[in-house]
Amino acid sequence: MAQPSIKENFLRIQERIAAAANRVGRRPEDITLIGVSKTHPAIAIQEAFQAGVRHFGENRVQEWEIKRVGTNNLAGTWHLIGHLQGNKAAKAAKLFHTIDSLDDLALAQKLDRARTGVGFPAKLRVLIEVRVAQEETKSGAEIAALPELAEKIAALPQLELTGLMCIPPYLPDTAQVRPYFRRLRELRDELHAKLGLPLPVLSMGMSHDFEAAIEEGATEVRVGTALFGGRTALAVKR
Ligand SMILES: *Cc1c(COP(=O)(O)O)cnc(C)c1O
Repeated sequence: MAQPSIKENFLRIQERIAAAANRVGRRPEDITLIGVSKTHPAIAIQEAFQAGVRHFGENRVQEWEIKRVGTNNLAGTWHLIGHLQGNKAAKAAKLFHTIDSLDDLALAQKLDRARTGVGFPAKLRVLIEVRVAQEETKSGAEIAALPELAEKIAALPQLELTGLMCIPPYLPDTAQVRPYFRRLRELRDELHAKLGLPLPVLSMGMSHDFEAAIEEGATEVRVGTALFGGRTALAVKR
């Protein structure tokens, strides 16, 4: 049997986003779909854009640097969603509209410096990635360090801190992931109350659990496999 096209996948995901939003009395248009195009070629991004996807997520600076040559005709919004190394920060600040996986002040300062000067009309949007599962994951800021980190990042002139992001452990039963999503929302609410920062964005939920994330307040869902199809084992390791 033929694989469903990216367009068919997109339509199906949109229906699922709308159904999840409706279940909790939210508006589907308040949820942004980020098509996670890592390991997929530029032609797949072209196809997704044609279908109506406008936000794309990549997890490696170098991979995106190569692929963007094949997509620079598209007026998309490009998100870095993977761990960023300090030596790639300056490049990332120029290649992406938003860094969704910021977890360290030194990195934030590097991004801020890289965006200083002429040629950048808007601030660089950033989200703080929070380590919601202490044992299972390596990336993300510690919960205890969050208030101070958020306050310092928010003070950087070229960055615009708009919210939080998390990658909970992979659990096939989405009921078990839900507490992590809820935790991120609570942390956002606490930061908002404590620091007076608006922080409207919650980036959480992937192909297998984005509906639960939406029910818990996600405003951005990062969907790869359900949109583009599977990634090869080789590509995943890269
Ligand atoms: C790969 C990736 C996704 C998408 O995962 P799927 O399960 O393919 O939807 C989302 N977020 C991050 C940070 C990723 O690295």
